Amino acid sequence: MSEQLPEPYQGAPLTTDPVVVKDDAADLKEYPTRFTAGAEDLAEPEIRVTALGTGYPARRAQGCAGFMMELGNGDVFIFDAGTGTNTSFNTLRVPYSKAVNFFLTHYHLDHIGDLPAYYDFGQSNGRLEPMNIHGPDGTDEDETIEAVVDALKRFARWHDHTKIGNLDPRGFDIQPHRFTADKAQVVYDANGVTITSFPVPHGIFGAVGYRLEYGGMSVVYAGDCEPSTLTVEHAQDVDLLIHEVFNPPETYVENMGWTEIQAKIVAWTKHTSPEAAAKVFEATKPRIAMGFHAIVAPGTPQPILDGVRTGYDGPFTLAQDYTVVNITPSQVVTRQTDVVPWDYIVTDKEYVAQMGGMQTDPSVMAGLPEWLEETVIPVPEIEAFKKELERMGAR
Ligand SMILES: [Zn+2]
Ligand SMILES: [Zn+2]
Repeated sequence: MSEQLPEPYQGAPLTTDPVVVKDDAADLKEYPTRFTAGAEDLAEPEIRVTALGTGYPARRAQGCAGFMMELGNGDVFIFDAGTGTNTSFNTLRVPYSKAVNFFLTHYHLDHIGDLPAYYDFGQSNGRLEPMNIHGPDGTDEDETIEAVVDALKRFARWHDHTKIGNLDPRGFDIQPHRFTADKAQVVYDANGVTITSFPVPHGIFGAVGYRLEYGGMSVVYAGDCEPSTLTVEHAQDVDLLIHEVFNPPETYVENMGWTEIQAKIVAWTKHTSPEAAAKVFEATKPRIAMGFHAIVAPGTPQPILDGVRTGYDGPFTLAQDYTVVNITPSQVVTRQTDVVPWDYIVTDKEYVAQMGGMQTDPSVMAGLPEWLEETVIPVPEIEAFKKELERMGAR
């Protein structure tokens, strides 16, 4: 086990243990050194967890919180939709028809900021069913997933008005799924997949973590939290425990101009320091622990590992965006992903065909008022097309 993490952004995952073997007797699946988006099929059962966003605040190298879990049965689950995570999703060659199951840990804006982006790009790129968004109830009715989805729909009102008739109406649907945050409970159970929520302490009441179980394997994503006995309880015997780990307060003071008291309140009393995370990791002994929500920059990973090592000596990864973890019954493998930043998003044409194709209905499209339309500088080919749309009923 190496006690030195590599420098970030050099192609290697920031992990002490790239391969954790669970079953010595098994034939181990072999993986390329790096994961190429769209290039690997999953076994059944197998789970692939991809970090879409791992930091705060969002910078080009790191989005805010978001993790995608793809399963060997074809299911995809997105946990948190932090600012910047949708950009990562768009480079992973997963079609929007798969971005229909969201689970939010809490409603801090850094965890929900990209919901409008998922909605927009799914609406126009082959998502022909609702976005199902699951989230906990907070203190009152204004702090529920229903309130968040209602606000999202109102936020998108002008946007939707322009798109009616052009885009398939099925892509306009967002369904909230609410549950209480006062106890652990199963919030999803279908197709051999169980997702259990459990309360976590994060500033005020209303934040949860999730445990996903599939094919005898499990992942806990604890979201944002202070170290808690509830997380320890619900992360027993887990393959991958994703738990926040903040940088030491001086990182924020020295580099970002935070005051010392601001940095300590945030890093120590709302969140989890590396030394505190070590207590959770030691009490749960996951196959591998993963820290996220830290600023990953040259020089920052090693102090985090050193802090974790004050109380935990098991396998540990500090998540960067595009860190990918494959979990099978016999091993847990951690790598970085190769993406093409300018790659196109993909549409699942087979799915769209099964859904009867994407429907356009110009007769219900909204248009400009006449005086404003008259200011549009005509181009013959486009004028002819507009006439055609009028024959199809467009105003
Ligand atoms: Zn938070
Ligand atoms: Zn956060």
